Amino acid sequence: MMSPNCNRKSNIFGSTNVTPCYKISFTSSYNLKIDGKFFTSTLFTTFQVMMGTYDLVLHVCCAPCSAAILEKLLHEGVRPLVYFFNPNIHPEKEYERRLEEVRRYVKSLQLEMQEGVYDYKGWFQSMQGLENEPERGERCRRCIVLRLEQTARLAAEAGCLTFATSLASSRWKSLEQITYAGQEAEKKYPGTLFLNRNWRRGGLSERRRELITTWGFYNQSFCGCIYSQLPTARRL
Ligand code: SF4
Repeated sequence: MMSPNCNRKSNIFGSTNVTPCYKISFTSSYNLKIDGKFFTSTLFTTFQVMMGTYDLVLHVCCAPCSAAILEKLLHEGVRPLVYFFNPNIHPEKEYERRLEEVRRYVKSLQLEMQEGVYDYKGWFQSMQGLENEPERGERCRRCIVLRLEQTARLAAEAGCLTFATSLASSRWKSLEQITYAGQEAEKKYPGTLFLNRNWRRGGLSERRRELITTWGFYNQSFCGCIYSQLPTARRL
């Protein structure tokens, strides 16, 4: 749905043109294989997005990982659309706790945030067969691809095209896996561009610790999924 209003469309690489406003109907599909049969899990949600309002879609996993990145982006003059899409987080109480912390911080920065659908059942189905993988193994690769593909999709539909993730700020994550996931997401949504920055450098790790203290953020001790909470969880 388009309105006659137009806005400047620009991304952090400097391209500028004039684009309209859109109401986005967002359909997410997972292809699943269960007991040898294929299923498609489909989610629907609708976003009202002003084309050209944002320079970047930043997927955020939690407040501790994203706080310094958001601060840095704003300092650089980049205005991101924050996207919380983490169906991997379990149980729901944990999900709500992390989401609430992100909401609190994003509101203070006066940024807009879109919340993806919490389809944890679809996530579990997508990870079938990978339950015993260690952290940074194949399950994590698939989990990150799943989240970044939806981020690229939102970037494409919002018209800002560039996307990034706060996952890259965590020292527990594999930068190689994040790069791979970003590239896979780019391929799935041609025209999008993954901003592949090392968010642990340039004083951001130190600033991350400061902001956790300053804001009193809930700082979880496990990645997010139920498998990362098991005593047998191990990191490669
Ligand atoms: S450990 Fe983290 S990245 Fe890996 S599958 Fe679980 S939630 Fe996803």
